[in-house]
Amino acid sequence: MPEVVDTLDLGDGYRLSITGEGTTLSALPMVRDGVGWHRAEPGDGTAEAVLDLLAGQPGSQTRGNFTVRSWSAQRAVSERAMGVDQTNESVIVGDKAVVKWATHLQEGPHPAPVRVAALRDAGFTGMPAPWGLVTWHPSGRAETLAVSVDEYLPGAVDGWTWAVELVTSAASCGAIEPITTAAADVGALIAQLHAALAPTESVASADDARRWHRDALDLLERACALSESTSGQVLQAHRHEVLAELDCLQGMSGVSAIEGHGDLHVGQVLLSGGRFVVTDFDGNPVLPASQRGLPIPTVVDVAGMAQSLAHVAIVAAKYTVLEPSALAAVDAAARDSFLDAYVHQLDTLGHARLYDPRPLRALRLQQVMREMVYAAEHLPRWMYVPDAALPALFEEGTDR
Ligand code: ADP
Ligand code: MG
Repeated sequence: MPEVVDTLDLGDGYRLSITGEGTTLSALPMVRDGVGWHRAEPGDGTAEAVLDLLAGQPGSQTRGNFTVRSWSAQRAVSERAMGVDQTNESVIVGDKAVVKWATHLQEGPHPAPVRVAALRDAGFTGMPAPWGLVTWHPSGRAETLAVSVDEYLPGAVDGWTWAVELVTSAASCGAIEPITTAAADVGALIAQLHAALAPTESVASADDARRWHRDALDLLERACALSESTSGQVLQAHRHEVLAELDCLQGMSGVSAIEGHGDLHVGQVLLSGGRFVVTDFDGNPVLPASQRGLPIPTVVDVAGMAQSLAHVAIVAAKYTVLEPSALAAVDAAARDSFLDAYVHQLDTLGHARLYDPRPLRALRLQQVMREMVYAAEHLPRWMYVPDAALPALFEEGTDR
């Protein structure tokens, strides 16, 4: 058993333990039996104990190095594993709540507590209702998220399922309306998200703009070095064009920035009971921890989502034989529908000034380059996506 660094007593023979060392720490559910403490499994009751703790103390309370924030007085019983492929460990309790243990504790400052609380305070309902959070902030370390508890959404699937299905049927039988309607719903949802985060608005400084530009240039060099991949070769051939495209990031000084989502793509949008909700406010995993919680221009989120719709089309074509021109038409229609609905909804909500679309294409390129580096370093089987996305983005031209 790895070393226990800290513990939060959850009562009745349950606790949350922070274990490990250095930067590889875990927040783990623990249960006591006759012999001593051991790692709890779904069914042992530790997630139920977290719900009891939240229900018993509304508001915010600090105990040792932990802070418990509760927005729910509900309890639930009967635990089961989420049973999906995930980084952390989620336990469903009574089909009402999801208790997520940060088994891969992220280096702080963790962006989620601030963003989730801001969204909740603004009355934003386009996310699973947050029930509570447990954060850990030992001296000398920035605060991070140890446990989060959200409303459970039955039958929820993310966009790598729902969007791929809709794009596949649109490209194979011409039923385009379901995907354009879904993309418009998601555009409106993201506009509502940004409008709810408007109170966090700040103005990007010249230093911010310089950092965005410099980071994009560094990324370009890393991605160009991936000469074994098709996308690495394509990128190298278009290097000057991309350099010129990224120039606009230098001009971002003075634009509005908010505590945006920061890692937005279709995989973060769940569909449950006909409703779309946005999840995962952990920030962008490819950024250093110190940058994950910084304000971003809204166009960063918009570009992430728009580009992921293009990736959906590529994933769809991998699993079903689809006519390329039909697929390209569906892809363009879905993206236009998303962008139009986003702009319209943001305007309707009175926050049009939050969106400056100028760097949209540069940021879509950045997103593809991030996927290239991510695939090369962590997930080689994903490389076919940037390999197809990059040439498509160059062909698309600069009209949007
Ligand atoms: P991780 O960060 O560990 O990968 P996520 O929070 O991204 O975990 O969730 C992984 C998956 O769990 C999602 O893609 C979705 O299928 C499911 N999921 C997440 N939150 C909920 C929820 N509130 N209700 C139902 N299912 C959820
Ligand atoms: Mg996730």
